[in-house]
Amino acid sequence: MKLKGDQQTARAINRRLILNLLRRQGAISRAEIASVTGLSPAAVTFVVSELLEENILVEGEASLGAPGRRPIPININYAGRLVAGLKLKVGGIDCVLTDLATTPLVTKQVVVPDLSPQSTVEACASAVEELVSDRRAPTGAQLSGIGIAVPGVIDNGVCRLSHRFNWADVPIAAMLAERVRVPVWADDDTNAFALAQQLFGLGRHHRTVGALAIGAGISCAVVIDGSVHHGANGAAGKMGHSTYDPNGPPCECGRRGCLQTFFSEPALVRRWKEARRLAGEVTRHDMLNAAKTGDRAAIDLLQEAGEGIGRYLGGFCNIIDPEVIVGGGEAVTFGDYLFGPMRDALKRYAMWNPPPITPDWADDSWARGAAALATQRLFDFESSPGEIAGTGLQQSMVK
Ligand SMILES: [Zn+2]
Repeated sequence: MKLKGDQQTARAINRRLILNLLRRQGAISRAEIASVTGLSPAAVTFVVSELLEENILVEGEASLGAPGRRPIPININYAGRLVAGLKLKVGGIDCVLTDLATTPLVTKQVVVPDLSPQSTVEACASAVEELVSDRRAPTGAQLSGIGIAVPGVIDNGVCRLSHRFNWADVPIAAMLAERVRVPVWADDDTNAFALAQQLFGLGRHHRTVGALAIGAGISCAVVIDGSVHHGANGAAGKMGHSTYDPNGPPCECGRRGCLQTFFSEPALVRRWKEARRLAGEVTRHDMLNAAKTGDRAAIDLLQEAGEGIGRYLGGFCNIIDPEVIVGGGEAVTFGDYLFGPMRDALKRYAMWNPPPITPDWADDSWARGAAALATQRLFDFESSPGEIAGTGLQQSMVK
């Protein structure tokens, strides 16, 4: 049946409504879906049947013991499709194969010999092949899409700029889609991390979320009303490039004294190493252990970083007013030595009640974030009207 434009839109909106309800609430019956969404029972039955047919939903067992007609719970068929997440880092790729709930099934680290887009795409393509042919990968489920997370300004699948990779205008999603013949989506790594938090992580029950990443750089991605905010050019959330001290050290972006030149994880470790005049390789774990034994240089630096980042977060909260800020990146290792002063600063600099800052300790959140770029299409029929659900899946599609 060929649907008219507005019918098609209504259908897409109803599908999106039901899928997102199930994502947040877990398995519920058709009657409950109708009562929560306000859709008519007939509309719910229609959409649910369609999604069952497409294998996107599954019916569970009717609960035993309930009197009368037992409602059959409906849930998303998370195991029915697979997605791959590829988080690009300088020197390598963190790869993960997940189900639609971004639950990791197979993980893998891949080394990339150089930073060129060609080598990266080659490495991504073979990594995907290895992921799906791994013996831990379930048989029978199809690979629905691939998400690539790259630190940089990403717009519509094109990496406009990545200082760390020295890329400009690299159509990374299209390049990989050509090699692998499944839909590929690309986004900034912190945006991907934010998306994973919003879909299935600590931000799941919130509409407005900040995702603060303190690693090789500092970013704060923002989810507004359930969608990651990209801005006009895909350059939103680059908090780490706000000026902290105009006379500070040069930054990768070409400016001086950006916040991240002082407080990124490598900057903190380097500054501590210099302060203590240490030789050889020094890691954040050494710095944390020193802080634990009362090392003033380590404690003071982390205090200064928490304060400094907290001040910018205060400004961020005054503009965005998030319900929660999720913290990620290597620097979460520093725990309350960093987040304690950050929370104090936030109290001082946010005009309204500051949101909680909740660190996410899971190592795999970043690669899962990349996978979430692909899974989100299932839940987001407005921006991508239903391709992933229908037969259009097989075609090479870039967003
Ligand atoms: Zn900068």
